[in-house]
Amino acid sequence: MALFLPEFDLQRFNTLAIAARAQFYVAVTTHDEVLEALAFARERQLPVLPLGGGSNIVLADNYPGLVMHIKLRGIEPVAEDAQSVWVRAAAGENWHEFVQHCLMIGCYGLENLSLIPGSVGAAPIQNIGAYGVELQQRLSELSAVDIRSGLPVTFTAESCNFAYRDSVFKHSARDRYIITSVTFKLDRAVRPVLDYPSLRQQLQLEPDGGAPAEAHFSAQQIADAVIAVRQEKLPDPATTPNAGSFFKNPLVDAATFAALQQRYPDIVSYPQADGRVKLAAGWLIDRAGWRGYRAGDVAVHSEQALVITNPGRGSGASVLALADEITRSVFSQYGVTLELEPRVYPA
Ligand SMILES: Cc1cc2nc3c(=O)[nH]c(=O)nc-3n(C[C@H](O)[C@H](O)[C@H](O)COP(=O)(O)OP(=O)(O)OC[C@H]3O[C@@H](n4cnc5c(N)ncnc54)[C@H](O)[C@@H]3O)c2cc1C
Repeated sequence: MALFLPEFDLQRFNTLAIAARAQFYVAVTTHDEVLEALAFARERQLPVLPLGGGSNIVLADNYPGLVMHIKLRGIEPVAEDAQSVWVRAAAGENWHEFVQHCLMIGCYGLENLSLIPGSVGAAPIQNIGAYGVELQQRLSELSAVDIRSGLPVTFTAESCNFAYRDSVFKHSARDRYIITSVTFKLDRAVRPVLDYPSLRQQLQLEPDGGAPAEAHFSAQQIADAVIAVRQEKLPDPATTPNAGSFFKNPLVDAATFAALQQRYPDIVSYPQADGRVKLAAGWLIDRAGWRGYRAGDVAVHSEQALVITNPGRGSGASVLALADEITRSVFSQYGVTLELEPRVYPA
C-alpha cells in the first residue's frame, strides 16, 4: 500500500536544495503502487509530478499536486544476438549505477554517460547526453503508464522524437506519462567515442589522434576518464547544490554565426548537419562576465559558467531571478536567446 504524505518538504529530493513543499508526496516501488497513486490523484483532481533524482528541476514554489517519487527497481538482459544485448532497467534505478552495472556485465555503449546524476526513467525526457554520446543512440524502447487512464504504453526510439536535450516528453507527451522502464540496445564490443578534447586530454591522446591508439581502451577506462573530467569540472550537488547545465546550447543560423564570429573570433561553436551552428552557452555566459558571480544565496559556478549553484540554499525564485539576469545580459551582448535546461515547477 502506498503511503501519501501531505505538505511534504522536497528540499532533500532536489539537487538545487530548494525548500518547497508538495501538497502530497508518495514513493512508489511497484507497478500497483503507481496505479494506486494515479487513482489517488485522479480522485482529487491533482496534477502529478513524477520525480526521479530531482537533478533537473527548479521548484519555483510549493507544488499543488501529487509528487510521485519513482523508486521502481530492477535490471535484466531481455534479449541478445551475436553483436548486441538488450538490457531493461526500471525507471527508479540510479543512472550512474546502471551504467556501471552494464560495464560489469560486458554491455557497452553508455560509458560516456557515466556520472550523470538522476534516474533511468528521467533519462529519455531530455535525451541525456555527454562527451559525444546521447541516450537516443542506445534507447530501444520504453514502457510507460498513461497518467489519465492508467493504461500501459510502449514508446519506440522513433516515437520518442529525440533531438538535442529534447523529446516528445517535453512537447505533445508532456505531463502525460509515468515512465516505468527503459530498454537499451548495447554492444558486446567496445566502440570508443573519444572526440571530446577534454576526454582525449584525460586519456593522453593526441588532439586529433588516430583510431589504433583509441582501440586499446577498455570501456571501464573510458568511463573512468569521463568520471575524472566531470569531477574536475562540475560541482558535486551533495556539497554545492546545483542542477548541472542551467541553459541549453543555443542554435543559430549560419549568417548570425558569421556575424558573431567576426566580433568574437574565439567563439566556441559546433557546426550542425542542417547548416545551423550550436554555440557553447557556457562560453557566452563566461565572456559576458558572469563566471564566479554571487548574488545572495545563489551564484554562477567559478569553474563552469553554465552552472548556477545555490550555496545559500535560497528559493527557486532567487535561482530563476539570476537565470533571468544572465539571459537578458547574453541577449543584449550577443543577440542570442538562452533557453533553460531544467524544468520549472509549478509550470
Ligand atoms: C551536476 C549535474 C550534472 C549534469 N550533467 C548532465 C549531463 O552531462 N547531460 C545531461 O543530459 N544532463 C545532465 N544533468 C541533468 C540531469 O542529471 C539529467 O537531466 C537527468 O536525466 C535527470 O534525472 P532525474 O532523475 O534527476 O530527473 P528529475 O530532476 O527528477 O526530473 C526531471 C524531469 O523528468 C521527469 N521525470 C523524472 N522521472 C520520470 C519518470 N519516471 N517518468 C516520467 N517523467 C519523469 C520529471 O517530472 C521532470 O520533468 C546534470 C545534472 C547535474 C546536477
